[in-house]
Amino acid sequence: MSSGTADRVWSVSEHLDNILRQLKPLEPIELQLLDAQGCVLVEDVMVPVALPPFENSSMDGYAVRTTDTQGADASHPAVLTVVGDVAAGSGELPTVGPGQTARIMTGAPLPPGAEAVVPVEWTDGGTGGAPVVGMPAASRSPDAVGGEIRVYRPVGRGDHVRARGSDVAAGELALSAGTVLGPPQIALLAAVGRATVRVRPRPRVVVVSTGSELVPPGEELGPGRIHDSNSYMLTAAAREAGAQSYRVGAVADDAETFRATVEDQLIRADLVVTSGGVSVGAYDVVKEALGEEIDFRKLAMQPGKPQGFGFIDVGARAEAEGEGDGGDAEAAPPEPERTPLIALPGNPVSAYVSFEVFVRPAIRTLMGVEPVFRTTVRAVCEGELTSSPKGRRQFLRGRHDPSSGRVTPVGGAGSHLVKALAHANALIVVPEDTTEVPAGSEVDVVLLD
Ligand code: AMP
Ligand code: MG
Repeated sequence: MSSGTADRVWSVSEHLDNILRQLKPLEPIELQLLDAQGCVLVEDVMVPVALPPFENSSMDGYAVRTTDTQGADASHPAVLTVVGDVAAGSGELPTVGPGQTARIMTGAPLPPGAEAVVPVEWTDGGTGGAPVVGMPAASRSPDAVGGEIRVYRPVGRGDHVRARGSDVAAGELALSAGTVLGPPQIALLAAVGRATVRVRPRPRVVVVSTGSELVPPGEELGPGRIHDSNSYMLTAAAREAGAQSYRVGAVADDAETFRATVEDQLIRADLVVTSGGVSVGAYDVVKEALGEEIDFRKLAMQPGKPQGFGFIDVGARAEAEGEGDGGDAEAAPPEPERTPLIALPGNPVSAYVSFEVFVRPAIRTLMGVEPVFRTTVRAVCEGELTSSPKGRRQFLRGRHDPSSGRVTPVGGAGSHLVKALAHANALIVVPEDTTEVPAGSEVDVVLLD
């Protein structure tokens, strides 16, 4: 695959379109509510029972018949006999007759006979004195029920009562297919009694970094060694994009080991992302190991010139396994047969920019979630940008200030400048045909947060 297109230079858009065109959203599955967070609903969810399911109090107070409170004021309070206590969750309810009341708590069902609730602050709470600010805890005052209370203000029918179905009626549409499930949507699903929902799952993204120079953070560096930052960055970025991501430790620059590592991961991958080893060096292991299936391309892009995309055949792995364990046919994995793999360059800034431009949209496409792309805005560039390479789309790191609509470049074009990357919140896009951007010009800015 790589041989046929080796000399062609791909534009950023061509590579991106080529990736997205070959990906389709993952098959929906039924997930527990919390596992469905951030996922796209694929069913219309109807409301089986009204919310609230019964008439209930919106205040702590006293359930009353409205006529009993007519004309009540500070000097002529209505005096009512307390016949019971209704807590949230109460099943057995006292009946409120003329001249009677029941103490009632927020969320408790309105007892028969009652038409409204008087907030406790409008009563003497049974103390025989001035209006009170609250009720004593039931556990601390078991005798609170009984006796009389004074009501200092009248209430109308339905006052401080939440009508049955006032939130949503039975049979209504709660959420439509296509909704992305955030905390409020999960609240609604739980409220209507749904424990599971059909959604497109989060893509499982496996991140493999390559490089014999790489040492995990926390371990000491030997001569010529550096810490592996890409696998952490890309795993975090994939998670932020909505994926369930798995970081595989850095693999040394050995084609066989690398290939075996990738094949071992296919069982849990909807997408594999690799870093490093795609250039023209003598140890470019990804290219060496995956050259059969993955198309390695030169892009008109800076940073991020070398890129790869293709599909790894899961069947190849099953066959290989079959040979090892006596050809057990049942060992064939149920996963889709081909797993997409995006190979990114190893320079940390190149890897990050490439992730943003190609992998993030790929993850969002697999999720079936909108928007697929980050927001791009126009901003005034503080300072001039010189020597953007002709014919290549350049992505510079910048700090964008939304209040002023200005963007300041941070760091330079160097692809190893991780610190500058960590202080950026935007990518400044310099188009292919532009080589210089005078200070004060408007530029396209991709917002990263
Ligand atoms: P490569 O694309 O493998 O030739 O790597 C290009 C540059 O990026 C080299 O300087 C590597 O040391 C560096 N690099 C590659 N992978 C990583 C990584 N996972 N973390 C940090 N730097 C890396
Ligand atoms: Mg390398």
